[in-house]
Amino acid sequence: PEEVAQAVRGHGAPQTRAPRIGARDAGDACVTDARTIEVRAGDARYGVHIDGRGRALEAARAHLAGVGDAVALVQDARVAELHGALLTDTPTLDLDGGEGVKELDVLGRVLDFCATASLSRQSALASYGGGTIGDLTGLAASLFKRGLDVVHVPTTLLAQVDSSVGGKTAINLRAGKNLAGTFHHPGAVFCDTSVLATLDDADLRSGFGEVVKTMLLADDADLAALEARTDALIRRDEDALGDVVARCVEVKRDVVEADPDERGPRRALNLGHTFGHAIERVAGFGTVPHGVAVAVGLGLAADASADALDADPELADRIRALLSRLGLPTSLDALRDEYGVALPADDLREALRHDKKGAVGQPEFVLLRAPGDAALGVPLEDALLARLFA
Ligand code: NAD
Repeated sequence: PEEVAQAVRGHGAPQTRAPRIGARDAGDACVTDARTIEVRAGDARYGVHIDGRGRALEAARAHLAGVGDAVALVQDARVAELHGALLTDTPTLDLDGGEGVKELDVLGRVLDFCATASLSRQSALASYGGGTIGDLTGLAASLFKRGLDVVHVPTTLLAQVDSSVGGKTAINLRAGKNLAGTFHHPGAVFCDTSVLATLDDADLRSGFGEVVKTMLLADDADLAALEARTDALIRRDEDALGDVVARCVEVKRDVVEADPDERGPRRALNLGHTFGHAIERVAGFGTVPHGVAVAVGLGLAADASADALDADPELADRIRALLSRLGLPTSLDALRDEYGVALPADDLREALRHDKKGAVGQPEFVLLRAPGDAALGVPLEDALLARLFA
């Protein structure tokens, strides 16, 4: 297996620049600090702005008012209903968030919408919603007239900590998850932690799945910091959420900057995902939330690491204890029970053959020797997979 270059810089308190974003009343109690994390990936340079209490939404509005020759918005209708429209007097396409929008026909609708909104290559397309709306909108922005600016305003924890940063866009095909997509970095990202208050518990814990993955890739201190804050996170404490979003974005930034095209170390971000994508596909896309499938995948990857890499088996116990404290299922059986899905072992093994990262029919896995010490491109024997899926 390939080794992962140590890309992640520092740990503990987020090391971010702290410009003020948006207006702040002098007497206002400060719930979260405004933070901007700069991402430089290939030719792309953009800021991920993190703030709370509606201030990052205000900053997004101000940014979009001055960007390009025109703006159009693709938004999750539920988010607009709960938090108000992001923009008024702007061409807007309302969609129901969820895996169902990551489909070819919906991509066609977004492209037609760009044409109807008379967008040019100097225009910007904004997304306001979770990772599904962001992935779809990013893909449409990369295709329309061969590419225009996309600005993400992510509204789920998963989208704030992970999917809005790094430039991956995708839709699903019947054959598998995220099989059609592009790399297209946003021009800017605005994360407002206040909108996370209205997430369903299921969607909050789905975000926790990606948080655990990211901290496992960082190092032991980051993992311990997360373990120490689980109660605050479950309570949706905005300070805790803001810190976690900032630290996850920093870690992802470091990995993406080291390898923007995912030819090497960036593949570490797929920890738990090869298993997770197989689970999502066999359960039927949209049945098991992405981050929940990833969480179960993290447990399976830890078991596989103990077997294939001689990793300390206590790491698997530690990961499962953390997932459990964040309300996540820790085994395939727990997932089968909770979602009423059979997930037959043979179907999971067959689904792995469609994994897009490995050679045809030969899935590759990201495994973990220890926090911050991942191994890439590890093939696993069929007998081990059969044991893991039993
Ligand atoms: P999602 O977009 O389906 O959102 C989950 C649910 O939350 C939806 O029902 C949505 O309507 C609702 N919602 C959104 N914001 C809300 C809010 N503030 N309050 C209340 N409800 C709200 O799913 P997700 O979990 O955000 O994203 C999952 C997708 O992200 C998957 O398709 C996955 O493949 C993708 N992903 C992409 C990347 C990447 O790098 N591009 C990384 C990780 C995951």
